[in-house]
Amino acid sequence: MRALWKNKFLILRRLVQVGILGLFILGNYAVLELRNHQEEKKQWVQNIYNQEVKGSILSKENLSSVLSGDLSFSKVFGVIPLSDPFATLQLFVAGGVVAVDLWLGFLIVVGFYGIFAGRAYCAYVCPINLVSDFASLLRRKLGLNALKGVNIPRGLKYGVLVLALILSAIFAIPAFESINPVSALHRGVVFGMGFGILGVALIFLFDLFVLKNGFCGHICPIGATFSLIGKFSLLRIKHNASNCTKCMECIKICPEPQVLDMIGKESVQVKQMACLRCGRCVEVCQDDALKFSLLGEKK
Ligand code: SF4
Ligand code: SF4
Repeated sequence: MRALWKNKFLILRRLVQVGILGLFILGNYAVLELRNHQEEKKQWVQNIYNQEVKGSILSKENLSSVLSGDLSFSKVFGVIPLSDPFATLQLFVAGGVVAVDLWLGFLIVVGFYGIFAGRAYCAYVCPINLVSDFASLLRRKLGLNALKGVNIPRGLKYGVLVLALILSAIFAIPAFESINPVSALHRGVVFGMGFGILGVALIFLFDLFVLKNGFCGHICPIGATFSLIGKFSLLRIKHNASNCTKCMECIKICPEPQVLDMIGKESVQVKQMACLRCGRCVEVCQDDALKFSLLGEKK
């Protein structure tokens, strides 16, 4: 029981990540199933596409469609849209028609992460996090260090973000979406894995043998987008320097250790936007020197 409590945020993250994938599988499977029962269910399928969900929201049919679509664009109960902000921006600058639903989903997602959760998408939703966390775990177990001579600046991901938007505008297509490993893994799990598995395997090998948290920390423009969105968000990690024994366990486990530059020095909140709010630092701290707090909270 103590071990479970000690890893409570890790367990919560895995439950949310796997739960979201499960709901997508269930939702998309339900739509396909219903398509196969054209006559009797035709009207219900029509309702899904017309976004006219009728009857109790907790009916069996609606529950199996809690989440449909994919991480680029999905709908909760066939009604509430959720859009990937970076994919929406690429579509917009590419000159594509961005439907009202897509903008509404954009605002809901930007509102949630921007006001409250910061970059938590990376720790609680993105399936690539399962891959990069596994690579980090193996790195620690095997005692692997970064490959000598490899020095990729963490700011590169913001450059990739800008480049993807410029290329989208020039070629009139959402440029990053054609190689997006997050969508590839997500669609692979929900609809069946194709060549996208190669990109995911590359990320795993890169993170394992070349650079800790290499892809997410240095390259991924989606993580960069959520970092920017969450710059002023409420949810923070707070450090209490008077409790800190400078064991540096938090720095060892943190996927973005540069955000913990105050450890052992100052009692302040993590200000840097790269923090995933994953809570690993809180879990490994034996001295009660780290905790979740809200922006500006004094205690
Ligand atoms: S940085 Fe990119 S790949 Fe990594 S967890 Fe965030 S969105 Fe996913
Ligand atoms: S500071 Fe803590 S919550 Fe933020 S990324 Fe590092 S381990 Fe996760």
